[in-house]
Amino acid sequence: TQELHIIGGGMAGSEAAWQAAEQGVRVVIHEMRPKVATFAHRTGHFAEMVCSNSFRSDDDERNAVGLLHWEMRAAKGLIMAMAEAHRLPAGGALAVDRDPFAEAVTAKLNAHPLISSSFEEITELPDQGNWIIATGPLTSGALAESIRAATGADALAFFDAIAPIVYAESVDMSVAWMQSRYDKGETAEEQTAYMNCPMTKEEYYAFIDALLAAEKTEFHEGETAGYFDGCLPIEVMAERGRETLRFGPMKPVGLTNPHEAVKPYAVVQLRRDNKLGTLYNIVGFQTKMKYGAQTAVFKMIPGLRDASFARLGGIHRNTFINSPTLLDDQMRLKSRPNIRFAGQITGVEGYVESSAMGLLAGRMAAAELQGRILPPPPPDTAMGALITHITGGAEAKTFQPMNVNFGLFPPIDARGGRKGRKDRYKAYTDRAKEAFTEWLS
Ligand code: FAD
Repeated sequence: TQELHIIGGGMAGSEAAWQAAEQGVRVVIHEMRPKVATFAHRTGHFAEMVCSNSFRSDDDERNAVGLLHWEMRAAKGLIMAMAEAHRLPAGGALAVDRDPFAEAVTAKLNAHPLISSSFEEITELPDQGNWIIATGPLTSGALAESIRAATGADALAFFDAIAPIVYAESVDMSVAWMQSRYDKGETAEEQTAYMNCPMTKEEYYAFIDALLAAEKTEFHEGETAGYFDGCLPIEVMAERGRETLRFGPMKPVGLTNPHEAVKPYAVVQLRRDNKLGTLYNIVGFQTKMKYGAQTAVFKMIPGLRDASFARLGGIHRNTFINSPTLLDDQMRLKSRPNIRFAGQITGVEGYVESSAMGLLAGRMAAAELQGRILPPPPPDTAMGALITHITGGAEAKTFQPMNVNFGLFPPIDARGGRKGRKDRYKAYTDRAKEAFTEWLS
């Protein structure tokens, strides 16, 4: 019988191994810890939580990550089961006692008759056999180089420089307008790929002051290397001079405000972030500001006063591939279909999202070894929305790691009047549960 090899026993690799073994497939996990360390892991356990001890909201009726919990439980996920067993009181969040949790995942995997482990660093993409690469944001350097050699220099990133992403519907279009700079683009769609928020001189200076005063997170050792030549955090640009941003990402040229005859002093641009057009990122606004500070500062932008954020900006060490160009809808490398990717390296972000992608990769790989093809869950489920986003729904050119959120789901038709946001989220989760149950069966 054929074996499935998984590189990385983190969130994704552990779940993938469990799912494949439960389907009756023999699995070997290749994990470099404890022999080779990362800067964030402390132990040799599988599924170590490297930072917070929370799997975030457990509300499966009105929250997209809570819905992902529900789907993983429905699919008999190991990570969710062990999290439940080591749950700590935390209001609506699923927080866990991290060491007993990781020990329990490790014990379950060790005890499974079809799973064995090999503690070694894999330094090259394997040629033969069936593999899942689940080496995460801190993939070792040698393996990352090998992935880069096989996929191309532009296809592997070492850093996230994330600009904040807002829900399109929360932008005030009585202030903002749609237009690409100099009306560039062939089609009407391209000419309206941007939203523009105008600023007066006073608004611009108040914004710069707030940006400079905002609380920032510090860089880790080694984090700045190789990063700064690419794209600077917005606050670092502002430190170089009060006009720098006005000559950079906030330049007011090539744009005409249809709401006001006066020319804006600066313009903040938002670029469409997904094919559905439900999400827009703020162009050039990658930042190390703390989350609370970001919301306060960005809401000073005219047009964004009532904005809701699908994700805030950030800059971290993070290894991830350009999944929209590299992977097929089975999470296989198009150029080498014996290799799947799973977890954070595919461009999802977070423990839960990473485990969920491991769950899918494990089931898909097992099905393939048994001569079947398991279709991905439909896009109106949380897992389906995520896999659809990374393998095709996201814009490949600006691809950045993504948390699960309702902006990734096909919109719900608000027939019968505009529903309140809470009711609408409930409609999303009801629809998802039905579709996921059908997919599972
Ligand atoms: P990991 O869980 O990192 O697992 C990858 C595994 O692969 C590791 O065990 C590693 O040792 C192993 N490995 C790497 N290279 C090789 C190799 N060449 N050969 C063999 N084994 C290898 N997410 C949150 O939801 N909340 C947080 O608070 C949070 N904080 C974070 C803080 C930091 C500093 C970092 C880097 C990430 C953080 N994340 C957080 C994101 C988090 O890492 C991921 O969400 C999650 O752990 C990713 O799961 P994964 O399985 O893809 O990778």
